[in-house]
Amino acid sequence: MTVRTRVAPSPTGDPHVGTAYIALFNRCFAHQHGGQFILRIEDTDQTRSTDQSEQMILDSLKWLGLSWDEGPDVGGPHGPYRQSERKHMYAEYAQALIGKGHAFKCYRTSEELDTLRAELKEQGENRALKPMDLELPAEEQAKREAEGAPYVIRMRVPTDGRCEIEDMLRGTVELDWALVDAQILLKSDGMPTYHLANIVDDHLMEITHVIRGEEWLNSAPKHKLLYEYFGWEMPVLCHMPLLRNPDKSKLSKRKNPTSILFYQRMGYLPEALVNYLGRMGWSMPDESEKFTLAQMQDAFDINRVSLGGPVFDVEKLSWLNGQWLREQSDEQFLDTLLDWAYNRDYAMKIIPHLRQRVETLSDVADKAAFCFNGMPAISEASFEHKQYGAEDMKVWLQYLLWTYEARSDWNRDGLFADAKAIADALEVKIKDFLFPAFVAIAGTSASFSVVDSMEIIGADLSRARLRNAIEVLGGVSKKQMKKLEKAYREIAASF
Ligand code: GLU
Repeated sequence: MTVRTRVAPSPTGDPHVGTAYIALFNRCFAHQHGGQFILRIEDTDQTRSTDQSEQMILDSLKWLGLSWDEGPDVGGPHGPYRQSERKHMYAEYAQALIGKGHAFKCYRTSEELDTLRAELKEQGENRALKPMDLELPAEEQAKREAEGAPYVIRMRVPTDGRCEIEDMLRGTVELDWALVDAQILLKSDGMPTYHLANIVDDHLMEITHVIRGEEWLNSAPKHKLLYEYFGWEMPVLCHMPLLRNPDKSKLSKRKNPTSILFYQRMGYLPEALVNYLGRMGWSMPDESEKFTLAQMQDAFDINRVSLGGPVFDVEKLSWLNGQWLREQSDEQFLDTLLDWAYNRDYAMKIIPHLRQRVETLSDVADKAAFCFNGMPAISEASFEHKQYGAEDMKVWLQYLLWTYEARSDWNRDGLFADAKAIADALEVKIKDFLFPAFVAIAGTSASFSVVDSMEIIGADLSRARLRNAIEVLGGVSKKQMKKLEKAYREIAASF
């Protein structure tokens, strides 16, 4: 048997360090067994998937050196490797399950589903919706079918009992069937859900081992059942522990930057980031802290993964990065620096904005420093303003951050238009509204245009600096966040 593993990211946002972590372990496992590692793009959610996000995922995994043997860009014998290009295939598999009696057409409307859920709750039944709840009397089913009403295809699932899942790291895991719903396999627009597409593709791509995040463990019973329904052999499952914030909560961008591009932009070395990800729940047999991808692969043993939630701690990563940097010769260090940001291309983005504001060349370094630095050295006092207080500014920064998190085209005009729309909705002058953004991004309002600055330093660093400023201003509590979200939805509706 040839070992084949895959990483299957959905291109719906920034390239996440969690994707690199899972890719790393899949790649090590496959290559250590002389097998293949595949990259598959799971873009069945057409409203949230973008080409740009896919490109960023590919670029950042390549930057980390986590190359793949088969994938959308390099091709391979089991292509296409993008689910949107395979969409014609999934419907027939869903139909085949109907034919075998393992799936059914469900004509329930969303209002009916709400009522059914409310009824279960009222009866005190803590279980998912089952085929017996969902299926309509034959006459009603025929009527809706004749009317051409929209429907989804759902799988049949047992009502009670336990499902046993074998996991490479956890042994036998028992899950309760009562909590497993009659999963939708094919949506009313004919697109498959993750569950159907994932199983069909893993089978057709001859994946032997599925190494994925712990958050998918609850989906394993449905997957096991689907393999049985199709009569296919199920790959071996391995659920990796989730990466965590230092406070042990699930790694989230509110508490820790999660985009690989952020780490690139901050000047972390790809070797150091891969090394650090390799230490997330795993260790070298000799416990060495610093190792290369090749060394990790040679020494790899999946059984050395420990399940205690690994903490992704930026300070520890920085320490490790320092180790890597110190090992470089002066020449290498200079090359790394030139490659990173001290180069002609990057300088040419800054110079047009700076030239007008200097008298001697020795003014340049100070004025351009924020284009090369990580977080600016700011405190609450940096936000001193004649008219507005810290509370107002914190709220504005939060609104701005939300708009910029949703923005995919990162250019000065778009960034300005977003800011202007919020300022108008709040009836605040744009100059005042942008004041805290200046401080957040450049450390001072005496800098060149903040929207130009954000275009230059890029989306990841800009967002991180806005988040940093919100924290400097005291942060937003959970309770306040709820209120702000509501207020933001209202103002966002006006633009
Ligand atoms: N598309 C899923 C994700 O985004 C893949 C999960 C899996 O590996 O099965 O994580």
